[in-house]
Amino acid sequence: TSFTSLKLVSPLLTRLDEMNYTKPTPIQAQTIPSILAGRDIIAGANTGSGKTAAFALPMLNNLALVNRSHKSSDNFVSNLILVPTRELAKQVSDSIKSYAVHFNGSIKTVPVFGGVSINTQMQALRGGSDIVVATPGRLLDLINSNALKLDKVKTLVLDEADRMLSLGFSDELSSLLSLLPVQKQTLLFSATFPEQVKTLTTALLNNPVEIQL
Ligand code: AMP
Repeated sequence: TSFTSLKLVSPLLTRLDEMNYTKPTPIQAQTIPSILAGRDIIAGANTGSGKTAAFALPMLNNLALVNRSHKSSDNFVSNLILVPTRELAKQVSDSIKSYAVHFNGSIKTVPVFGGVSINTQMQALRGGSDIVVATPGRLLDLINSNALKLDKVKTLVLDEADRMLSLGFSDELSSLLSLLPVQKQTLLFSATFPEQVKTLTTALLNNPVEIQL
């Protein structure tokens, strides 16, 4: 498989070429076509497998193709990525911004995590966002401050779902999931599949494509 055969838009193909991504990793080759087709997915993936690009590239591709009319005075977000740690929130957000450099600033990605001033993040979210990469606790704080709304989310990613649950984010996750629209695309990535993750999967995913490398 090549990135070209995955039918990604040219600003992404140009960027991947610049970054010397010569071909998709196995997880990318398996997930990208299903994500582009709108399916829910559950993928067993470790760090280092290329899982970030596996969800980020189709997400950016879809954003390039749709009319992003949500940008308004309301603080909506169309793509939400939940991650367990601040470090991962920064890292995923930076990767997405890097993949999107040839979109000429048309895609707004906002990282959201605790331990830093909430005011800067509130300002960043104003007017709506295309992609929010968030840790659960700070995201809930921002929602409770009316800094963003989840009712226009089209795609939800749970990255490192097992770590999110083992770090004790189960209650935050339940609160957040209850605020999301029922109709959405959900992509769940996890290195391991303990009972807690399986329960979440059953509750959340709709006829998912299962990818286990
Ligand atoms: P991740 O598993 O998402 O943390 O990615 C691990 C590393 O692999 C990151 O440094 C990515 O930039 C890199 N990477 C992801 N996909 C590819 C690819 N198709 N070709 C080369 N490097 C890649």
